Amino acid sequence: MVLKKETEVLVVGAGPVGMFAALELAERGIAVELVDESWRTAARSYALALHPRSLQLLDAMGLLEELLQHGHRVDSVAFYEGGERRAEVALADVLDTLPFLLVLPQDRLERALSRRLAEKGVEVHWNRRLAGFEQRLDRGDRRVVAQLEVLAEEDVGYGVSGFVAEERVRVACDFLIGADGHRSSVRRLLGLDFGKIGTAGDQVYAVFEQQARPPSPTEVRVVLGDATADVLWPLAPDRLRWSFELTDPRGLVSNRAKGRLAVHLGGDVFPYLDHHDLARLIAERAPWSGAEAEGELNWSVAVRFERRLVPRFGDGRVWLAGDAAHLTGPVGVQSMNVGLREAHELAWRIAEVVQSKEQDGLMVEYDSERMAEWRRLFGIGSPVEITASAPGWVARRADRLITCLPVSGEELSAMGRKIGLAF
Ligand SMILES: Cc1cc2nc3c(=O)[nH]c(=O)nc-3n(C[C@H](O)[C@H](O)[C@H](O)COP(=O)(O)OP(=O)(O)OC[C@H]3O[C@@H](n4cnc5c(N)ncnc54)[C@H](O)[C@@H]3O)c2cc1C
Repeated sequence: MVLKKETEVLVVGAGPVGMFAALELAERGIAVELVDESWRTAARSYALALHPRSLQLLDAMGLLEELLQHGHRVDSVAFYEGGERRAEVALADVLDTLPFLLVLPQDRLERALSRRLAEKGVEVHWNRRLAGFEQRLDRGDRRVVAQLEVLAEEDVGYGVSGFVAEERVRVACDFLIGADGHRSSVRRLLGLDFGKIGTAGDQVYAVFEQQARPPSPTEVRVVLGDATADVLWPLAPDRLRWSFELTDPRGLVSNRAKGRLAVHLGGDVFPYLDHHDLARLIAERAPWSGAEAEGELNWSVAVRFERRLVPRFGDGRVWLAGDAAHLTGPVGVQSMNVGLREAHELAWRIAEVVQSKEQDGLMVEYDSERMAEWRRLFGIGSPVEITASAPGWVARRADRLITCLPVSGEELSAMGRKIGLAF
């Protein structure tokens, strides 16, 4: 399929958020072109679970049944403070529709989205990189003109191949959506900051995926410490994933540095993590789950997470969604799930503006609502409040709790209230 030079919406970035935005637009009868600088889907498996709200949105796109076949249902969330189990919340006590989390690898979601897009006649134009755009707010129907580079693989010497820009094309559109991930070009071209939140610094997580022995729990377990938030996700009855927040990543290497492999990530070097590290972290942070350290380790890695947010979600006819606008830690799987909701919010608003010539006030509202949600998640402006009857562990851990809740939107308030957070 040829990339059209004129369209109603150009979506830049074919990760889950960009694909979902394109699908929602196509469902609403909006002409959409979807481009990505990669040469095909990266088939990532980073984000591992879908919130109930995401399931509702995917259901509306006819995808739920397929996803349920490949996912693992989790019905409740348990909270631990170190060695003590403090509380549990059943999703059914928080919402009526689809009251569960679905553990599903991100690449499985991406495959389902791309298949559904193809059914709607939308294909991803891989190897097309956004290089620039201009907004023409004062004239013409097509208010944005984007410049795309068509990339081609080329031998760049020493037997190494790379992707180089072969030609440039221009695409005129009514709206441009930047769903181009944490290194977003759209954000940079809008001149938006991507400031770090707070002074606490980045979070580094040691992630271990292992066989479950005995069978993995049917709940997600959040473990709060003095300066850490860890999480145990059941991936399947026989597999689970531990993510431990490290206060001193380099400390891991102290006793057994010699001869250990190193993992290089974003300019940092982390030690290779093995089952000794997992056993030690479990003994220190989650002594109640000793037996789980015995399952065979499938893989492990140290990953750095930042907390960042744009000052606004866009301008005029160019808007951001997903990791292009925000980054956070992994415990509550907020980045992708809230990103999917942003895709939905953008899609219906853009459809209204394009089809009914509604005023752009709808887009201004998008910005204020999205900013409000992330300011709340990050506790910016007003600190997290607790109810008068909140137990001591909630009072002690309130500032870390919100981004650890694996729900968003109204369910976030509902689950927060169940444990004593006031919204
Ligand atoms: C290393 C890593 C680990 C992670 N671990 C977790 C985790 O444990 N839990 C969790 O919840 N989340 C995790 N995430 C985040 C999660 O993967 C994202 O929230 C999710 O991918 C949704 O992102 P998105 O669609 O907004 O962007 P992405 O998935 O990043 O997709 C952006 C797309 O835009 C394309 N693109 C970029 N620039 C251009 C351009 N100029 N022109 C055209 N295309 C462009 C890219 O090729 C990419 O395909 C992790 C992310 C990373 C990078």
